[in-house]
Amino acid sequence: MRFSRLRLSGFKSFVDPTELHIERGLTGVVGPNGCGKSNLLEAIRWVMGENRAKSLRGSGMDDVIFAGTDKRPARNMAEVTLVIDNQDRSAPAEYNDEDFIEVTRRIERESGSAYRINGKDVRQKDVQLLFADAATGAHSPALVSQGRIGTLINAKPQDRRAILEEAAGISGLHTRRKEAESR
Ligand code: ATP
Ligand code: MG
Repeated sequence: MRFSRLRLSGFKSFVDPTELHIERGLTGVVGPNGCGKSNLLEAIRWVMGENRAKSLRGSGMDDVIFAGTDKRPARNMAEVTLVIDNQDRSAPAEYNDEDFIEVTRRIERESGSAYRINGKDVRQKDVQLLFADAATGAHSPALVSQGRIGTLINAKPQDRRAILEEAAGISGLHTRRKEAESR
């Protein structure tokens, strides 16, 4: 399951519609402090179903919506779309007819989130299940946020091993699928 595009609109500092092409191989995001590098990672986590505002550096879910600046008014809506290249058929079997899977999450102020997969309204659970087997879920340690590097380095060897195994996708697949299914 390869991420191939990320589209953002009204999400945190990405107020104007923005599309990023994610090429094969390693992607680096560079730019001055505060330009939105971490916001991009949070957008990926959010569209995959992250619901802990704190892990998105907010106090409530509406905090992901562009809050306005001196020059521009706040928005009432944020939307993020993640396009997954499924030409290798690595997504769950129910997506075997799809070369590309577009997952969209949209939030409106005070009315919560809605999800779509390839344009069809779906439940949050459907999005979480799509990612549950891919070691890419929103809670996956494969997404290491700023400040967590220290935690990783200082972890006890056995804890660090568990984190790395999970990031590599060789542990927890069954647990996470079960978790998602029982929600
Ligand atoms: P650093 O190099 O310091 O880690 P960064 O590139 O990771 O910086 P981010 O933390 O992604 O930067 O972006 C922070 C910017 O996003 C700040 O300017 C902050 O004001 C802005 N921002 C965050 N949430 C919102 C929001 N809801 N509305 C508008 N701007 C926001
Ligand atoms: Mg950052």
